[in-house]
Amino acid sequence: MARSAPASKDSSKPNTAVQTTAVAQSLPSDCPPDVEQLGRSTWTLLHSMTAAYPERPTLTQQSETRQFISLFGKMYPCWSCADDFRSWMKEGGNEPRVSNRDEFGRWMCEAHNAVNVKLGKKSFDCDKWEERWRTGWRDGRCG
Ligand code: FAD
Repeated sequence: MARSAPASKDSSKPNTAVQTTAVAQSLPSDCPPDVEQLGRSTWTLLHSMTAAYPERPTLTQQSETRQFISLFGKMYPCWSCADDFRSWMKEGGNEPRVSNRDEFGRWMCEAHNAVNVKLGKKSFDCDKWEERWRTGWRDGRCG
């Protein structure tokens, strides 16, 4: 479970508090992740999964992808983040769209933007999802 506050003195319990950014920045890199570190790593995984998703997925692949997202929403180890993510998916039009790579990539971008908005961050231009996560930017800086 990602942290949001200083460690409990009870070492038998996992540290479930959320670390503030200021404190987290001073922590060594081999400490348990806080919510921000966990989030960055997780978005990298999720967007990379959309980048690797087939252009023409089989029905089985689509079904397994929906199952993965559903389980992810139950198991993401920041419980309040997971609760909000599941609530967002239940809103009209926000259920996972997985019928092809571009659709899945855009859906993930929209899911990420919902969190960005909640946290007061800038929305990402979802027309650019593939340049950011699959092909690299058109200016060639990604090689
Ligand atoms: P991140 O938001 O982690 O983004 C990483 C990189 O992705 C960015 O640098 C940018 O290049 C790219 N990017 C940004 N937006 C998009 C997009 N829409 N589409 C494609 N690429 C994009 N934190 C909380 O404090 N509270 C929460 O409730 C919460 N809920 C979360 C729910 C989920 C499912 C996940 C995976 C994370 C959640 N987080 C939450 C973590 C939060 O989203 C960020 O990961 C964290 O705040 C670090 O933010 P960041 O600014 O470093 O970049």
